[in-house]
Amino acid sequence: MTEQNAKYVIVGGGLAAASAVEGIRELDKDGSIIIVAREVELPYHRPPLSKDFLRGETPQADVYVHNEDYYKQNGVVALIGREAVALDTAAKTVRVDDGSVFHYDRLLLATGCGSRKLDAPGGDLPGVHYLRTLADSHRLKQQIIAGQRVVIIGAGFIGVEVAASAAQSGAKVTLLNKGKQVWEMFGPQVATFMTGVLEQHGIEIIHEDSASAIEQSGSGLRVKTNGGRNLDADLVLAGVGATPYTDVAEQAGMKMAERGVDVNQYLESSASDVFVAGDIAAFDSALYRRKMRVEHWDVAQNTGKAAGRNMAGAHEEYTTLPYFFSDVFDVAMEYLGNVKDWDELIVRGDPSQKPFSVLYVKDDHIGAAIFINRNEEVEPVRKLIVQQTSVRSERPRLQFGEL
Ligand SMILES: Cc1cc2nc3c(=O)[nH]c(=O)nc-3n(C[C@H](O)[C@H](O)[C@H](O)COP(=O)(O)OP(=O)(O)OC[C@H]3O[C@@H](n4cnc5c(N)ncnc54)[C@H](O)[C@@H]3O)c2cc1C
Repeated sequence: MTEQNAKYVIVGGGLAAASAVEGIRELDKDGSIIIVAREVELPYHRPPLSKDFLRGETPQADVYVHNEDYYKQNGVVALIGREAVALDTAAKTVRVDDGSVFHYDRLLLATGCGSRKLDAPGGDLPGVHYLRTLADSHRLKQQIIAGQRVVIIGAGFIGVEVAASAAQSGAKVTLLNKGKQVWEMFGPQVATFMTGVLEQHGIEIIHEDSASAIEQSGSGLRVKTNGGRNLDADLVLAGVGATPYTDVAEQAGMKMAERGVDVNQYLESSASDVFVAGDIAAFDSALYRRKMRVEHWDVAQNTGKAAGRNMAGAHEEYTTLPYFFSDVFDVAMEYLGNVKDWDELIVRGDPSQKPFSVLYVKDDHIGAAIFINRNEEVEPVRKLIVQQTSVRSERPRLQFGEL
């Protein structure tokens, strides 16, 4: 068993971890940094795994956040393929699965999420895929072949993106959706538009149904549904959500919130000198006056960077508005802000075709907005949300004018 001291220890090896290194190095050029990362990969971007990388359009070398030289040049020891198994916040130590113990001055937890497993018999049969890691995407990529029958369970972001990528690769895709339309959480305009886009590209969507079991059937699989259907498939992808990896924090007795780890506006947890970033961070939003935990790329990057700077002594509040994107065929969707419900939707443009955008109004303010191939509106709308512009006083411009 080895024992070692490091000024900064980072547990987790995703985008938040890599961004934290950047944040630390902006303020502290040579404090020692150790990353403990379970996957046998340096930090990489996950969005391509369901899109261009999956379709074979982007080489693996392009998905990494930084190359190996970056970590060497920045004096970072990246222990890849190593899992942190215990945290002692009083002794300020992290124990790793090979028995090594690291003493830290400042610790970052950025352990991200894993794929939620299908809660139905047969969810672990060979040929039933989940998508979270580069290795998962490699396996899927090898098996999505033109002409194959692909059944996708779940029409969230990953389900819809993989459905589009598989259809683009020539597979025959069936998408099983619990709701009445896909992406209903964005309101009727976006849901109708996106459902239409998928159908126009030949994807069969079965609405208001879900998988009850998966069985082996000859050389393939059969997905049985609660609605009584039998869907034959060569390959099944279950895209049924993500589960935050919070075991280490929970076992250490840290305060939890929103299925993640509770942090304040400085991304500091309930344990002294332990910061949290990325998918597992449940942070205080001053603008929305509530806790927020967001499982998206931009938030991982920004909270990672901010946590890194604060670990190096910046003590800056994290106030960046949540943002995410998705690419489905030639639809480039972006979403800014965060609302759970709304009083009114302001639709800009004709929602039966792109481009258009929708503003989500709550209590006379824009709480969030979605942009369908309308990237030029993102920054103006960011200002309107942050400045909490009154919708009543600006209605004609918000509906029809330049933003
Ligand atoms: C297929 C896919 C497509 C996506 N597409 C988009 C998109 O288009 N737009 C968007 O906004 N977002 C997208 N996302 C979400 C985005 O990628 C995540 O929000 C982001 O990766 C979160 O970064 P993170 O660093 O918090 O966690 P992760 O990227 O999950 O990294 C955490 C890492 O820590 C490791 N780890 C966990 N526990 C331990 C431990 N105890 N010890 C050591 N290591 C540990 C994990 O194995 C993992 O490698 C996508 C995600 C996926 C899976």
